Amino acid sequence: MYPKVQLTVSIPVRMRDGSVRTFIGYRVQHSNARGPYKGGIRYYPTTDLDEVTALAMLMTYKCAVVDLPYGGAKGGVACNPKELTRDELERLTRRYTYMIYDIIGPYKDIPAPDVYTDAQVMAWIMDTYSQLAGRQTPEVVTGKPVALGGSEGREEATGLGTAIGLREAAKALNMGIKGLRVAVEGFGNVGSYAAMYLHEWGAKVVAVSDSKGGVYNPEGLNVPKLIEHKKRTGTVLGFEGAKEITDEELLHLDVDALVPAAVEGTINARTVHDVKAKIVSEGANGPVTSDADRVLSEKGVFVVPDILANAGGVTVSYFEWVQNLKREKWTKEEVLAKMEAKLVRAFHDVLNTSRRYAVSSRMGAMCLAVERVCEAIKLLNIWP
Ligand code: GLU
Repeated sequence: MYPKVQLTVSIPVRMRDGSVRTFIGYRVQHSNARGPYKGGIRYYPTTDLDEVTALAMLMTYKCAVVDLPYGGAKGGVACNPKELTRDELERLTRRYTYMIYDIIGPYKDIPAPDVYTDAQVMAWIMDTYSQLAGRQTPEVVTGKPVALGGSEGREEATGLGTAIGLREAAKALNMGIKGLRVAVEGFGNVGSYAAMYLHEWGAKVVAVSDSKGGVYNPEGLNVPKLIEHKKRTGTVLGFEGAKEITDEELLHLDVDALVPAAVEGTINARTVHDVKAKIVSEGANGPVTSDADRVLSEKGVFVVPDILANAGGVTVSYFEWVQNLKREKWTKEEVLAKMEAKLVRAFHDVLNTSRRYAVSSRMGAMCLAVERVCEAIKLLNIWP
């Protein structure tokens, strides 16, 4: 119930006009009972200590569900990177890293990307840490560019994992993936790769949205072309042959499956009642509020919970860390095949646990994770 460490730091940044603006950043370490702390860093305007704390806890349970030798942590800086120049972003990242330097490290706490942070931000973190430590330390952070020790497959890992979660759920419900009608909320790293793999496997991705709005085509969207369109124009809006819809309309479409891959709380007490999907695979962390979760449960919707459905990212982060520590380089095929095996196994562990306790898949995943963390805590005991 209580995180082990909560750190709040102030980050003064010299802005492009010469003025100084101070941002507030956090790193919360929830549990390291099962291994070093692990979890991403997000740059988001509304990020605060409560949010980062909740997400740190989810990381503990996420790592436990997939049985990675990690605890859980999360970091964040309250800022809008879309309004910052590249130089400002670099200065902010380096100063933030300097401020959390004492509590991170390859055997202590290993950060990674999260909402609105990417491989470039991880490269700055690695370089700042390495310069302060006096040695090149790629293993201090994951999600790095491949040229700097990043892993092949890390970029697509989370979205692929979310698609695998959906595919396994469809199998469990005897629905199959071919022709499955899917709506994807959020078209960042997770949403776009989930949509791409689902499209590749023959599902019909009929709608996607981003922070500016959504597009819908009942015949199915050409996802590779849509990804190109988003790269070129910065939004999914204006995609040829698609009708524009709001994010809420997307959630309420008559589809078989929904992939919420934007931010937390989009499926809430207000939006949940008109959800028609039979499967929800949570690409984002915490996209369904707890009251909405009860409604989904009553409706008999099969939810692949976030700590399972988006665990592909941290799983490949783990593979990246192992490669760094061993100074090895694995192929993309090897990495993604290993990840798939781990996720499919975790999916069945969760299903078995929820059957054993006669609870929902979210509760099953939590039971499994809490059992694993508690076992470690009991073995460690309390000291001093
Ligand atoms: N930010 C991602 C998550 O929420 C990845 C964390 C990691 O790779 O450490 O799972």
